[in-house]
Amino acid sequence: MSALELSDYRRLVIKVGSSLLIGGDDAVHRGWLEGLADDIANLQRSGHEILIVSSGAIAIGSSVLDIVRSRARLEHLQAAAAAGQVQLVHAWQEALGRHGIAAAQVLLTPEDTENRRRFLNARGTLAKLLEHGVVPVINENDTVATEEIRYGDNDRLAARVAQLVMADGLVLLSDVDGLYTADPGKDDRAEHIAEVRRIDEDILAIAGETRSDIGSGGMATKVQAARIATHAGCSTIVASGKVDHPLAVLAGGGTCTVFRAEGTPAAARKQWLAGALDVRGELRLDDGAVRALRAGKSLLPVGMAEVVGAFRRGDVVTLVDAAGRELGRGLAEYSDEEARRLAGRQSEQIEELLGYRGSSVMVHRDDLVLFDHD
Ligand code: GLU
Repeated sequence: MSALELSDYRRLVIKVGSSLLIGGDDAVHRGWLEGLADDIANLQRSGHEILIVSSGAIAIGSSVLDIVRSRARLEHLQAAAAAGQVQLVHAWQEALGRHGIAAAQVLLTPEDTENRRRFLNARGTLAKLLEHGVVPVINENDTVATEEIRYGDNDRLAARVAQLVMADGLVLLSDVDGLYTADPGKDDRAEHIAEVRRIDEDILAIAGETRSDIGSGGMATKVQAARIATHAGCSTIVASGKVDHPLAVLAGGGTCTVFRAEGTPAAARKQWLAGALDVRGELRLDDGAVRALRAGKSLLPVGMAEVVGAFRRGDVVTLVDAAGRELGRGLAEYSDEEARRLAGRQSEQIEELLGYRGSSVMVHRDDLVLFDHD
């Protein structure tokens, strides 16, 4: 991959695997982490927005609790995650702090990315952190997520985060430098695959998705993550982090596999909205609001003339003009009851009308699709 290409991505999610960050003694590899933090600081300085998904809480916490991971039960692992997470995030805080960059801990469960109401909350928080130049350090909330309701691996979590924040690049750093036609450890004819344009059955089979699971270790979850991300318009790069300054090495043309995005994040979001089946309510807009939406703006409460039906925050609503013509769809930032109170009013009055200060918009422009205009 060329230097130019990494710089093409505006919003990057970087996933760091436990094996890179944590040594055999379950202590953080501080020197390596500092090198990665240098790379992140450089990317940030040149205008990229960076989010980190970091594993390692359970590994660090195991030595705090003195448990053997392979034999530990779920409660033990959850307790280890709780003890390890503070140290993990502290290590990130120190490494990024050397560059004057603040870190923020964000712990997520699948509900936070898959339930639309919670999705809006998580996204709002992450957007604010990025706006303030703070680097979110994200992990699964292992202490509350039980076996049935876990992401389980941070590759998938990272892909969901990329989708949530509409990132255009996801870098999965681990101990493999990409996808091979066979397991390079077992087959010396194995060839490295530099680019994947479509994740089809062949690619899934190579990655060990099939029962035999003889692909290179850990590739199956990476390809599944790449599938989620590329469908969301986010290119996914699988690269080795087993070098100092891994992102600088990558930007300089280091070996990796790039899974190309299908379209852009905005197009993917709009396609999903257009195809949503569970439309719950309707917002009738005044002419000013229709013009604002056509100009690419968000829908403000002041532009709502009438609210029809019952819906909750995060539900899909239909947008209609004064004549009742359907203009498009969007995700509601407020419930129908709140929307009725806000209709026709200025955003500055939201706190006075609802008793709390929520979003200043009724439908965010990222969550909006206009049928005849997109
Ligand atoms: N959330 C786990 C941890 O921080 C890691 C999961 C994974 O390695 O994918 O220890």
